[in-house]
Amino acid sequence: MVGVGELQRDVRRRLAEAGVETAALDARLIVQHALRLSHEALIADPDRQVDPVGRDAIEASIVRRLEHEPVSRIIGEREFFGRSFIVTPDVLDPRPDTETLIEQVIDIARLEPRTTGRLRIADIGTGSGAIIVTLLAELDEASGVAVDISAAALEVARLNAASLGVEERLEFVQSSWLAGLTGRCDVSVSNPPSVETRPIETLPPEVARFDPILALDGGADGLTAYRHIVPQAFDCLEPGGYLCLETGSGQANMVLELI
Ligand code: GLN
Repeated sequence: MVGVGELQRDVRRRLAEAGVETAALDARLIVQHALRLSHEALIADPDRQVDPVGRDAIEASIVRRLEHEPVSRIIGEREFFGRSFIVTPDVLDPRPDTETLIEQVIDIARLEPRTTGRLRIADIGTGSGAIIVTLLAELDEASGVAVDISAAALEVARLNAASLGVEERLEFVQSSWLAGLTGRCDVSVSNPPSVETRPIETLPPEVARFDPILALDGGADGLTAYRHIVPQAFDCLEPGGYLCLETGSGQANMVLELI
């Protein structure tokens, strides 16, 4: 048998040698998940012995990671804005970039305190629910609507809302963009699919092979989703409401033109 600390170093070395840039973090998450250990337990007892079952579980995860599967998909969860989200093959792996969008909406919410009623926020194409669940967790006066065309994605968003304790303030609507939304919102937020159809296969394998195509494909020029969302948002926002959109790099000006 071998100590967990030594095993973790071994995993890190194998990942680094294969060119995995986040080898140290990935190794830790793989070991923790395979052995069901907290980060604290891992640090506290590096000599903890790992039995063959544990080693097999770690080995199976390494094989998947070396096949370019992101660690979040192997362990089924991803940290976003300091909280843990369930991630399944039906949803986009939440990206750290999207945390910027969260900060923007929080700033808006604090600038525009509601005097009557709750701030109502719609998340269009919610996927894992990372955006709206985080916002409701951060803003306890807000309520939300999570919209997605995929029933499977809405199920994941529902699980995340429940595990983070915001499901009572969140409605779930299966709809194409904002078409199925009833009632007006103060803020509409979205990180829609924005990748041009043609270069999807040129994306890193971690993305091209593991994120759902529905969550990536933005049509021929990458802007199809924005062409749906922008006019619909004008119809369902309260006067003076906000539309907060994430765009792909280099797309911001084109999206502004659309607006
Ligand atoms: N709203 C989700 C996120 O930002 C999913 C976005 C998408 O599938 N394009 O993580």
